[in-house]
Amino acid sequence: MLHEAAYYMRMSLGVYRLFRARSISDPERTVLDQMANREKSFLKTVQNTIFANPENPYNRMFQLAGCSFGDLEQGVNRDGLESTLTGLHRAGVYLSHDEFKCKKPIVRSGQTIASNHASFLNPLVSGSFESRSGGSRSVGTITRQNLRNQLYRECYHSFMSREWDLKHRAFVGLMPILPASWGLGHCLQAARRGNPAERWFAIGGTMRNSGHYRAVTKALVILAKALGAKVPFPSYLKQDDFSPAAEWIAGRLQEGIPSWVSGLVSPCVRVAAVALEKGLDIRGTIFRAGGEALTDAKRRVFESAEAEVLPNYHINELGLIGQACRQMNKGNCIHIQRDAVAVISYRRKAPLTDYEVNSLLFTSLLPFATRVLVNVEMDDAGVLDRARCDCIYQRAGFVDQLSEIYSYGKLTGQGITIVGGDVVRILEEILPQRFGGVPGDYQIVEEEASLQTQVLLRVSPRVGVASIEAIKETFLREVRKLYGGSAAGRQWQHTGAVKVVIGEPYVTSSGKVLSLHLLGPMTGDKHES
Ligand SMILES: [Zn+2]
Repeated sequence: MLHEAAYYMRMSLGVYRLFRARSISDPERTVLDQMANREKSFLKTVQNTIFANPENPYNRMFQLAGCSFGDLEQGVNRDGLESTLTGLHRAGVYLSHDEFKCKKPIVRSGQTIASNHASFLNPLVSGSFESRSGGSRSVGTITRQNLRNQLYRECYHSFMSREWDLKHRAFVGLMPILPASWGLGHCLQAARRGNPAERWFAIGGTMRNSGHYRAVTKALVILAKALGAKVPFPSYLKQDDFSPAAEWIAGRLQEGIPSWVSGLVSPCVRVAAVALEKGLDIRGTIFRAGGEALTDAKRRVFESAEAEVLPNYHINELGLIGQACRQMNKGNCIHIQRDAVAVISYRRKAPLTDYEVNSLLFTSLLPFATRVLVNVEMDDAGVLDRARCDCIYQRAGFVDQLSEIYSYGKLTGQGITIVGGDVVRILEEILPQRFGGVPGDYQIVEEEASLQTQVLLRVSPRVGVASIEAIKETFLREVRKLYGGSAAGRQWQHTGAVKVVIGEPYVTSSGKVLSLHLLGPMTGDKHES
């Protein structure tokens, strides 16, 4: 209870501080200055945090790699930042996703390096606006946003608004309520820009399992309103029904005002789909969609509704990695925010599978980033390249692009991340214990259906299942217990995204039955080696 009270106090304080703070006066200049100084900024931050603190796990990693601060500085000045980071990765300066999440000890050169969840937080900043990845209350990664970071990140809107011509559009949120804080955060930012959200459509679950979060969200909106911020109360969408959002957008368009919508990919697709289904005109609407891979099938739904989609790539622990310009109108492609993050990649085998991926490694560059991370792996893959478009981002110097982004080794259905290993335990232990069968008889298949990511639980006919509903219920209940599971269970139930199918589990070309079989882009059979 005390922990919860402290959380709400901090959140309230965060809302208050953010709303009272003055915006950065020349946003684009500020970002461009940081971009010009990205290497210096990285070196200085690393010197004052990692090299200044022998307790920092990276300190030991650099030591074991035989790299002093002087060596690092020399390397960056001579070879550039990304080349140096590639060399550091080979020398053992990196964090795997499991190491970052403290699920596995960090072992380099035979030595175990002590770490905990707080090890990678930036000691130079403190924050009050709290967000939790996955939305679990007890566990999960907590990110406390400091004010400088928030104000800096507001600067990005200026580029996006010019590129996508957002200024005279109605802003519609299709965003979650607390404990995910980005819905409230986006509404506050919009209010600060003087272009407040006109509606906030939220998937709120039932009163029984989310009443508490509805109450807290409402309290914080009341606080924001009292401070003078025009933040709308969330309008809760009924189970599996996205038509109120589509109807509102169509109505506003009839009045001559097109909308731009911010949300996760799957709910955005559902709004476009229901508009098509009901013959609602949402032409020209821009959907800024993130949290999941935007596949061609999903893109086609937006295109059929004559709407545009703006993919963005955001990682809770790192912030915005990048977003698309208007010319990136195929697949899942973004301009990297190279002012704030350095991205490199390497080939590896995805865990629990037998295919190779271009795994991405991220390094934070902002002096006020919430975490100081060097080469952290988030179990995401993608293709790095030079951007070849002629757009506002390109002209400003965001010349690196990342395409074909997707997650491997974990489920990200509808923007909620569940670590693969945890789900495997449900499939290989809990379900067989309860319903019979053995590991290998239950398999999760995440596949890209045309309207949303579909999570299929395949159960071998050999198990002889009596009730499909009972299996589904047990699975969802177990998912809810996991890290990040609370929000996943709720969202999946809301959209009916989990289906149980009786059928033999898929077998890979090498003959393995994998507990997690991801059928996203590039992960289908044809890509398996
Ligand atoms: Zn571009």
